[in-house]
Amino acid sequence: MKCRQLLVKGKAKSVYSTDEKDKLIIEFRDDITAFDGGKKDVLTNKGNYNAEVSAFFFKFLGQNGVKTHFFTMVDPHHMVVKKLDMIPLEVIVRNIAAGSIVRNYPFREGTPLDPPLIVIDYKDDARHDPMLNDEIIIALKLVTPAELKKIKKMALDVNRLLSALLAHQGITLVDFKIEFGRQGKTIYLGDEISMDSMRLWDKKTGESLDKDVYRFEKGDVMAIYHKVAQRITKPVKKP
Ligand code: 5GP
Repeated sequence: MKCRQLLVKGKAKSVYSTDEKDKLIIEFRDDITAFDGGKKDVLTNKGNYNAEVSAFFFKFLGQNGVKTHFFTMVDPHHMVVKKLDMIPLEVIVRNIAAGSIVRNYPFREGTPLDPPLIVIDYKDDARHDPMLNDEIIIALKLVTPAELKKIKKMALDVNRLLSALLAHQGITLVDFKIEFGRQGKTIYLGDEISMDSMRLWDKKTGESLDKDVYRFEKGDVMAIYHKVAQRITKPVKKP
């Protein structure tokens, strides 16, 4: 399958039409950005690592009953997906307090959040992705109340499944952001799930294994992305 027309160019991914009207190709580029695009770089192979991890998670979630947009990879940085009408919500699930919830509210970093917190932001760079509440989401008619309930359930399912998978690999899933879209009346998990959109901490050392390494210059981003992609997708089996 080949890319036809460029439909959307985001900060780190481009979306293309294909010969099939229900399928798109997402290109995972090597661009990395942080702080609303205030910090940007191009890191060779970064797109491949994010695509590899996203594809791995989408396959795993699909096998465990979560409807995702994923079909297959064309090459290491081009993913064939179902065409969705994307919903402009950033659905964040938090198991441990870190990042903006610590900056904006009196949570101490590292505090477990049990049950996990779901926070939903409005996806709008110009407005700096403001946090929504259920009433605003419904008043803006972004989703119906039934769809909101479904999206929250899917987000918690993803959290349960990925937390368990990563725990086996010695990694704590601190938080992550996912996005959803519709085809007809059905809601699918779309976008990506990668080191750019998750906070991952090494269970033993507490080391960051995600975009925080880039945001806060905690080390060699590409070395960490390489290591964590290997760890997630090709875990060493214990005898
Ligand atoms: P925070 O709100 O603490 O900045 O982010 C919470 C989690 O969601 C982190 O894992 C972060 O990487 C992810 N996240 C939040 N907003 C965005 C966004 O606009 N893009 C991406 N890729 N991830 C985000």
